[in-house]
Amino acid sequence: MKTTSRTGSSNIPLANDRRNTRAIVLTSHPGNDAARLLPIAWGAGAAQARGPVVGTLHNPGGRNAIGTHAGAYSLYRALAVAAGQLNAEHRPDLTNTAPAVPIGPFPQWSDPDRIVSMDPWGHMTGQAFGAQLAQGWDIRPTIAVTKAHINMPEILAAIRAGRLQPDGDVLSANGDARVTKVAIEPVWWLPGVARRFGISTTDLRRGLFEQTGGMFPELVTRPDLDVFLPPIGGMTVYLFGDPTTLGRPETKIACRVHDECNGSDVFGSDICTCRPYLAHGVEVCIETAQAGGVGVIVYNRKEGRALGEVTKFLVYNARKRQEGGDRAESYFLRTECVAGVNDMRFQELMPDVLHWLGIARIDRLVSMSNMKYAPIVASGIDVVERVPIPDALIPADASVEMDAKKAAGYFTDSVPEADELKRAKGRGLEE
Ligand SMILES: [Zn+2]
Repeated sequence: MKTTSRTGSSNIPLANDRRNTRAIVLTSHPGNDAARLLPIAWGAGAAQARGPVVGTLHNPGGRNAIGTHAGAYSLYRALAVAAGQLNAEHRPDLTNTAPAVPIGPFPQWSDPDRIVSMDPWGHMTGQAFGAQLAQGWDIRPTIAVTKAHINMPEILAAIRAGRLQPDGDVLSANGDARVTKVAIEPVWWLPGVARRFGISTTDLRRGLFEQTGGMFPELVTRPDLDVFLPPIGGMTVYLFGDPTTLGRPETKIACRVHDECNGSDVFGSDICTCRPYLAHGVEVCIETAQAGGVGVIVYNRKEGRALGEVTKFLVYNARKRQEGGDRAESYFLRTECVAGVNDMRFQELMPDVLHWLGIARIDRLVSMSNMKYAPIVASGIDVVERVPIPDALIPADASVEMDAKKAAGYFTDSVPEADELKRAKGRGLEE
């Protein structure tokens, strides 16, 4: 056995030294008992009956899920282990990490088809699966709940314009808004995900296996494992108001479901309406919280309609260089030319988080998008009012996007005429 250690270091064996001497264990065939010892009964009404999702790699009984924790960041963890900077067998010390605010359980958690893309018990692993943790299983949270203050210049502007009034609780005079924020990693129950798309579980598993270059062989060799931790981005939920009133029919809910747009959300790029819409959503959430309700911002890591930012920037160039300039008429077509489709966000899975929060009715949905409205309503949540963005908040270069979306059937009071859609409105590349 190789026993080298790094020059001058202690006699603690380094993770990569040990790793290089171990046999590679193929995970593609049953070699453990986890699926039998800790079966997952998705949608069971209580945590113990449902059972923990074990996606960690060092358990005496193996794992009962495909993939590993942390979504896209699982690859960085792999890199840290490969680079010798992280002991592969490190277990997190979860002291004091429990949710800052309790969320659930709600009746929706025990409907196997209502929530299929996240683990409803993912923030409660410590309290729900203490017995298994004590037996030595490495069970990790896939959800974390904490509290914070946020401060956005748009909210200060709304205070100055008299649209929002500080109350010293939800909103301070300096523009600080108090929030509960929830980070959520994706956990897919494959039979439920397949049903959402009306395809067979076999077709789903095969597609996921083949189109990732064979990344997870268990998708096709281990039909006994039907929970998958996909290496994709998750979401963050920002709650305004008292989250302990969630799940009560009398609690008024405002909600914006927002898909990440780094260029606009963070850097204020003006080709789209993303940040203005997000800020408007926060404003409506603060109003609702001040009136005793709960405001909910769901922020999904689905950059560029889940096509990714490289595709998105390629499309921007194609739009601005096309003959006739950037115009609403060809907005979606240019995306399809590059990506093959104009959207891959799969809003079919989006309402899961709303059910996880115990929401059965949204009083104010801050969105014009039918692609968001339709799956929310189809999933059994009533929507009372849809709130469009005020025209004054739309940036100049974003009018192409707005007109294209309105013409494509986004909810609006005024659908633009064909002539309007033909006119070039976006800036050229050199402007
Ligand atoms: Zn955007």
